[in-house]
Amino acid sequence: MKAGMIGLGAMGSGMAGNLAKAGYLMAVYNRTAAKTAEFNVPAYSAPEALAAEVDIVLICVSADQDVLDIVEAIASTIKPGSIVVDTSTVSSETAKKAAARLAEKQVAFLDAPVSGGVEGAKNGALAMMIGGDADALEQVRPVLEAMAARIIHMGPTGSGQATKAVNQVMCAGIDQAVTEALAFAQAQGLAMDKVINVISGGASGNWFLQHRGLTMTQGAFAPGFKLALHHKDLKICQKMAAQTGAFIPLADMTVTDYEKLMAEGYGDEDISALYRLKKP
Ligand code: NAP
Repeated sequence: MKAGMIGLGAMGSGMAGNLAKAGYLMAVYNRTAAKTAEFNVPAYSAPEALAAEVDIVLICVSADQDVLDIVEAIASTIKPGSIVVDTSTVSSETAKKAAARLAEKQVAFLDAPVSGGVEGAKNGALAMMIGGDADALEQVRPVLEAMAARIIHMGPTGSGQATKAVNQVMCAGIDQAVTEALAFAQAQGLAMDKVINVISGGASGNWFLQHRGLTMTQGAFAPGFKLALHHKDLKICQKMAAQTGAFIPLADMTVTDYEKLMAEGYGDEDISALYRLKKP
């Protein structure tokens, strides 16, 4: 199976690195061409040129319209029988539009958002939640296993993105809890490395505390996961909540907080920059 990766940002570059190690990566495309240099495979100057050369097209770009633009471009050249796997975080509605467009070309589409951060992408340890045809998933599973430690078929097209929205609501609550608790610890003058070490081993331990705890208390907020991207996800979650009557006050609060930070120019910082609003 020949795979091509479109989008070599914080997540896509880690995933492409693991595809290369496993021998599947045959082509890359990135809008900013310089990011393709580290991969020892042909780099294409347009997504449609890449799509003509591979059997599996993986996508990892920022937002809904970006995915739809890429899908529209590759639809002109992609071979029937190919499979497109979108690992970006977008709405279920976008996944359904992309799947419908590619079905016209006899191409299967899987919405396959991921969780696990840049560390998970780099280490091939992502959790991947998949919507779409189960047979198409089985065909590409060996390729996905190069990038993910946990691959779960959630149901029809859009159900992967619906599951990722659940993850993003939870992530908002964790961001609020960890930034607030660590600012509270710092205000007491505790040794932050020890606080993080001991709490990480107890019932309140979590990935975000372990990976972003110390850096946030040192005022370092390099992404990671850009807070403007999480804001984009939470706006999708708010729309879903409004449609279903669900109540997500922690996500609502996080949207408001992120908007304050984005207005101050911090949108490209990691989501741990929420600490800026909590520190004494
Ligand atoms: P990132 O570092 O900002 O990279 C974004 C990538 O998308 C870049 O390769 C960018 O190209 C490309 N791109 C954006 N708009 C495009 C367009 N219109 N046409 C072509 N390429 C376009 O973001 P990331 O952190 O890798 O996130 C990518 C996706 O994964 C997002 O949907 C995000 O929500 C999701 N995600 C992120 C994390 C995380 O921890 N970072 C975790 C799980 C899921 P350029 O290089 O030219 O800008």
